Amino acid sequence: MKYSKLLGKTRYDVPCDADSKNAALLTQAGFVERLAAGIYNYLPLGMRVLKKISQIIREEMDAVGGQEILMPTLHPMEIWEKTGRHLTMTDILFKTAGAGGKDFILGPSHEETVTPLVKNHVLSYKDLPMSVYQLQAKFRNEPRAKSGVLRGREFGMKDMYSFHTSEEDLNEYYDRVMEAYLKVYERCGLKAYVIEASGGAFTDQISHEFSVLTEAGEDTILISDDSSVAQNMEIAIGEPNGEMIEDEKEKDLELVDIERDASIKANAVAHGVPEWKILKTVVYEVEDVGLVGVVIRGDLNVNEHKLENYLQKRVRSADSEKLKEIGLAPGYISPVGMSDKIDISFIADKSVEAVTNFVTGANEYGKDYINVNVGRDFVVKEFVDLVEVEGGFKKDGKELKAYKAIEAGNIFKLGTKYSDAFGFKFTDSDGKQKPVIMGCYGIGTTRLVGTIVEASNDENGMIWPKSVAPYAVHIVSVGSDEAVMEAASKLYEDLQKAGVEVLFDDRDESPGVKFKDADLLGMPLRLVVSKKTLEQDSVEWKLRAGGDVEMMKNADVLARVKEFIDA
Ligand code: ATP
Ligand code: MG
Repeated sequence: MKYSKLLGKTRYDVPCDADSKNAALLTQAGFVERLAAGIYNYLPLGMRVLKKISQIIREEMDAVGGQEILMPTLHPMEIWEKTGRHLTMTDILFKTAGAGGKDFILGPSHEETVTPLVKNHVLSYKDLPMSVYQLQAKFRNEPRAKSGVLRGREFGMKDMYSFHTSEEDLNEYYDRVMEAYLKVYERCGLKAYVIEASGGAFTDQISHEFSVLTEAGEDTILISDDSSVAQNMEIAIGEPNGEMIEDEKEKDLELVDIERDASIKANAVAHGVPEWKILKTVVYEVEDVGLVGVVIRGDLNVNEHKLENYLQKRVRSADSEKLKEIGLAPGYISPVGMSDKIDISFIADKSVEAVTNFVTGANEYGKDYINVNVGRDFVVKEFVDLVEVEGGFKKDGKELKAYKAIEAGNIFKLGTKYSDAFGFKFTDSDGKQKPVIMGCYGIGTTRLVGTIVEASNDENGMIWPKSVAPYAVHIVSVGSDEAVMEAASKLYEDLQKAGVEVLFDDRDESPGVKFKDADLLGMPLRLVVSKKTLEQDSVEWKLRAGGDVEMMKNADVLARVKEFIDA
């Protein structure tokens, strides 16, 4: 491709709507162009990356027996009513009215279409297992479309769905797909960690996410040094890694006057105790339930995802205004006596069980209780694991570190949730009708484009891995000298004839501009043709990923380029 003819040239101003590094670099380099928040055009360079990523995914899904199909984007509302997800996923669903007042949903995921589709074709155990996939646009009305192509309102996804006669068969296939996913990331030049995560809106079972560590990530994941433990913070389990000596006997409850700030730290200092001796009480407003208080050790935090999973309800912590409104004193909240004042029940994090003689507020400014003990001075409904696991915690004896990460893929065991909703049964070898067991497997294709940019760049621009680079080679001609242009054009043609993908910057621009652009665009190999190189019957060879500039004889270039590409 001649750069002079390419749609989408570089620009040096960072677009004012670029909300992230990937958006800035991809837009400046002319790979994508934003139409609206979370909605992007893919220009030829971006499209080439997307196609290569898609091809890698196709090959790996085909290798595990996936059959490619294409399902509609527009879903009649009825199929969503069957699973009830038109009510549970309302925050992100795009709905639209069709002719004759029929309602439609723009597909955010395709369980509701694939299940009845496959049901029409699969009747007996002989037809199973079966697995189908598609690469297609998905629509989700993301409230915060703020991470460039990482979080689109319209975005590309490969979604695969598998159908099995038994849990064992699903488990075996699930593990094979997990391996296939790891190959996809590796081939895209990424290191992905397999992380245990929650099933979200898809299933109550656990799922596995594929996380790529970068600062741009919206997730926090906790990994042990040997990677044997890897968990999403949302559901992470672990023990705090600190000294906690506790051999006290229960002492008598006392009300004391105190002067202190509201923070746990100030509280601990004022009472001369460690922070874990302070009982933290967080009041939540729980959907359809009312107020629920959660008590936890002062040095720990409540994980609201765990709380929501436990209660199976949405929760929101009450802010100071709300606390005052219901007659409580922010900073001096205490479960002791609170139930006499307001209608509230308590649950405790497991950490509370092991501590005697806590310090708490007394629901009154300037007063605290000391020697507070659960069971004796206040009651909780249950002890539950609600702790937010952070860096420094331990799991299975291994210390965890916290990292920011991008969720680059997610696989789920669905069980019979969708086959039940659509009455999808098969006739087993014993003649009995049984529900089909399902799995689903998603990779964000457009998110992968952005993930690679976030994971692979420097101060000069993007650095594309060979496997997904729009072009392997970027030829730069220096100056408008005829002999130079001729030699550069010949190199361009020779490489193309040899099947090498080449971008040729044939513009009449200064060397400075062309080199800067080549760095920004990030093709793996830059070849420069100039008067100086011609005099030596050579070209200048430089890898974008690093290394020195090398002079290479023209006679060797073709063979060396092919060697580089195949390596
Ligand atoms: P997130 O937690 O980031 O919102 P999700 O868990 O809702 O994502 P899934 O339903 O698991 O996403 O979708 C499968 C894959 O599709 C994700 O792992 C991710 O790679 C991609 N994906 C999901 N939402 C988006 C989006 N808004 N834009 C781009 N890619 C997305
Ligand atoms: Mg997910």
